[in-house]
Parts: sequence; structure tokens; C-alpha cells
Amino acid sequence: MIKFETFYIQCPRCKSWMEGHLLVASMVNQSILYSDGKILNDGYLTENQKMIVCPACNHWSWIDKTEEPYIKKSKPDANYYTWNSWRFYGIHFESNKGRLALVDHYKHFIEKAEHNLDQEIYFRRLLWWAYNDLIRNKYQINIERYTSKEMSFRVWYRNRKKLLQGLELFKQHHEDYLDNLSILIHLLEDRYTPDDEEYESTNLDIIEMYRQLGEFDKAQELLNQTSRRTYFISRIEEKVKEKDDMVFLVTG
Ligand SMILES: [Zn+2]
Repeated sequence: MIKFETFYIQCPRCKSWMEGHLLVASMVNQSILYSDGKILNDGYLTENQKMIVCPACNHWSWIDKTEEPYIKKSKPDANYYTWNSWRFYGIHFESNKGRLALVDHYKHFIEKAEHNLDQEIYFRRLLWWAYNDLIRNKYQINIERYTSKEMSFRVWYRNRKKLLQGLELFKQHHEDYLDNLSILIHLLEDRYTPDDEEYESTNLDIIEMYRQLGEFDKAQELLNQTSRRTYFISRIEEKVKEKDDMVFLVTG
């Protein structure tokens, strides 16, 4: 059973309330890790959504910490927007159309919002993930998914059609995708020093970004400088050697 911690967010402009959910990590049954660092726990992101757009007045709020005055744990007296009605800006990203709409949201935030460096990194990382969402489950196209009886033929076939369409859309937006990755690498490259907690994981992200950019020599060069060999890093290295530039499922 999925367990959420519920909280309530108030729009600072129009004072409407929105319900928020935070997945309780200790209650997670299944964790899925993709090579771009996206982790889904029982199908959900465990991290809080930091950019919120009020469904009533369209006001943008950046929420770093779930603290008062705009956030509280107890239910407000007034009506509130349910989580599903506002999270991810009301987008149903099970469809390719929804996934592209999410891409557009992040691009919009990057272009229009006033933000600092960490916020830009946050948006560009989510933009990277949103593009990858179009092809994230490409492995399910394989007929083995059907023959292994994980799903019925009808479900598999419909899913396959959607995945092939996602792959096509991903190719159409590839230039934009590459631009975003190049900028993200540039923003991250000198961001942290070995004393920072983020240093090691960011270095790994950068290797993966070079791979997804198709810059395999650079990715290999950075891999050679890393003495660690976890399962994750070995899988990335395998893909670099195969000159495969797509996001893949690491565990799950
Ligand atoms: Zn509002």
C-alpha cells in the first residue's frame, strides 16, 4: 500500500488551498532507477515538486521547504484543490501529448521566471527527464515483454504504439534536447567541489549527460578518471562502449 504524508499549500496571491502529498519512503514496495537519475517509488517521485502554479489564479510559487506560513499539516476550513488536479500543472503525462506539455512548462519556467542558478539547474534537470519520459520505457517495445506474460497482448500492443510515437517525438525534439543537456553540463561542471555532498553524484550525472549527448569519448575519458565501479557505473560504461545514447532502466 502506498502511504502519503498530506500537507496543504496556500497560494500567496489568491489564498486558495492546494493539497500536497509526500510519499513516505519507508513504506515503498518497488523502486525503479533510470540512468538519468530519475527514481520512481511505486510509480511516484519521492521528491517534492518545487515549482507550483496555482490552479485558481495561475500564480507561480517556488517552494523550497514545506514550512509555514504557506504550508501546514492540518486541513484548512476552506475547500482545496486535490493533489491530482494541480500537480504537474494538471498534466496527465501518461500520454505523449501530456509529456510534451510538461516539456513546454519547464521551458517556459526557464525562459520567463526569475530564478537563481540552483533553480535553473532544477528546471533543466526536470526538462531533461521530461524529454526522456518520451522514451524512458522503450525496452517495453520488445516482444519479450508480451511473451513473458507481464501484460496481455492488447495492453502490450497499445503500449508499443505509444512508445513508438514517443520515440518519434523524441527524435523531432532532439536539437532542443541536446541544447538543454549542454547548458546543464556547463552549469554543473564547476558547481561543486570534492567537499560538497553533491560532488560525486553530480560527476556521475555529467558522465551520463555526455553519453546522452553522444559524446562517448568524453564520457569514457571521465569514466577512466573514476576509480569506483558500482553496478550503475558499469552499466553506463557498457552503454558508452556500445555507443548507445538513450536513457535506460538500471534497476526495477
Ligand atoms: Zn492563486
